[in-house]
Amino acid sequence: MTVTFEGPLPGEPYDVAVVGAGVVGAAIARALARHPRLRVALVEAQDDVGQGTSKANTAILHTGFDAVPGSLEARLVREGARLLAAYAAESGIPVERVGALLVAWDEDQLAALPRLAAKAAANDCHDTRLLDAAELYAREPHLGPGALGALHIPGESVICPWTTPLAYATQAVRHGVHLHLNCRVEQAGRRDGRHELTTTRGTLRARRLVNAAGLHADTLDRLLGHDDFTVTPRRGQLLVYDKFARPLVRHILLPVPTALGKGVLVAPTVHGNVLLGPTAEDLDDRHATGSTADGLRTLRAQGRRILPALLDEEVTAVYAGLRAATEHDDYQVRAHPGQGYVTVGGIRSTGLTSSLALADHVLGLLTETGLDPGPARDLEPVRMPNLGEAFPRPYQRPDLIAADPRYGTLVCHCERVTLGEIHDALTSTLPPRSLDGLRRRTRARAGRCQGFHCGAAVRALFEQARP
Ligand SMILES: Cc1cc2nc3c(=O)[nH]c(=O)nc-3n(C[C@H](O)[C@H](O)[C@H](O)COP(=O)(O)OP(=O)(O)OC[C@H]3O[C@@H](n4cnc5c(N)ncnc54)[C@H](O)[C@@H]3O)c2cc1C
Repeated sequence: MTVTFEGPLPGEPYDVAVVGAGVVGAAIARALARHPRLRVALVEAQDDVGQGTSKANTAILHTGFDAVPGSLEARLVREGARLLAAYAAESGIPVERVGALLVAWDEDQLAALPRLAAKAAANDCHDTRLLDAAELYAREPHLGPGALGALHIPGESVICPWTTPLAYATQAVRHGVHLHLNCRVEQAGRRDGRHELTTTRGTLRARRLVNAAGLHADTLDRLLGHDDFTVTPRRGQLLVYDKFARPLVRHILLPVPTALGKGVLVAPTVHGNVLLGPTAEDLDDRHATGSTADGLRTLRAQGRRILPALLDEEVTAVYAGLRAATEHDDYQVRAHPGQGYVTVGGIRSTGLTSSLALADHVLGLLTETGLDPGPARDLEPVRMPNLGEAFPRPYQRPDLIAADPRYGTLVCHCERVTLGEIHDALTSTLPPRSLDGLRRRTRARAGRCQGFHCGAAVRALFEQARP
């Protein structure tokens, strides 16, 4: 198993290099790992997988009911949702099929619901149902006053966004993919029919190149001579409410979508919290993941209408993610056969859901560039640690505790993370390189006190495990 984070890169050329270890690049690397004859590199600028947009989304496994029918995004979200639900069941990624309610707050929105149901059907989502106000309030008793009805989309689910890219990358690495972290691609050229990438850790050569660089996919695309799209980061700020808020909401509560996007939602998380957000702000700065007083004020005003009691609950955390929006309405996924190059750009607000379908699509495009992937094999399943509240956590499992008392020793009391889980994360195939990485693997320091109580103990365990 090869995971590197410093030092020179292997000199021998790879068959395929995938740039960007977000949920999309990791899914592509995993798909390539099915072909044992291929030598594959997954190259990431940061010190962990899933550190870009993939760590900061609303964590919904979409049905694709509201996608533009006939678009690439619509097809890949629909296929991806099915693939990821099955993959999650196999790998232990927590998913809860809570369903969504598209709530109409005025007559115009109410009139739009049948049209949205028809759009959902055009997207192969046939089980939606219109609810009148009484049925809606029976389902969501804490909903603010004045809602007139809703469209129920039972297939919408919530998923763990952190475990997903980690599972893909773990499986890819265990099947021979080389993961090179702290390895930013700065220049791209071609020599002797091969890609020659200048990275912060030296030169990397590859016969085929996949650009899954998220917010920076257009920059890499231009280095390869293409000018097909420009990424405009669309910031989404979110508030995370504490676990006491969880009984207030049963479904994902969505507004009726507008031309500006999906709008502000209230949603339960698999970790037992409630999310309010996201905003949709087009920015120039691809690093602007800060929150603003204005953004949070806007969210609170909208949240007060949707679920008034939520505003009395305590906020555990605030975060923001940047969607890779472009001037186009669809994903920008293209093969450039003459160059042995595939661009995977503009994967805006649905990439977590579509990741596995995108990966299969990209594998098809790579074969169009002349790549012969050779025979395929089934991958050994991975079993990820359960971070979801709807399934037994280690501290609740006498069998685990009897076998290893470290699963009975709490380190992070807010999130009930045990010494055993922290030890497992620190000795896993892809151990964290930072405390934040450890948090995404275990939830330690992600709770009410944000590490005030357990921070020193967690840090000590992390430091002890570092080579
Ligand atoms: C607020 C918000 C809410 C969302 N909600 C949902 C949702 O509910 N459901 C859903 O399905 N999707 C959702 N999304 C979308 C989803 O998060 C993204 O589509 C997905 O994470 C994109 O993954 P990615 O791998 O393309 O990008 P990223 O996760 O950004 O990964 C790209 C990686 O490339 C690396 N990189 C960039 N340039 C270079 C370089 N030159 N060299 C090496 N590495 C490089 C970056 O460091 C990064 O790790 C949401 C997004 C946001 C922001």
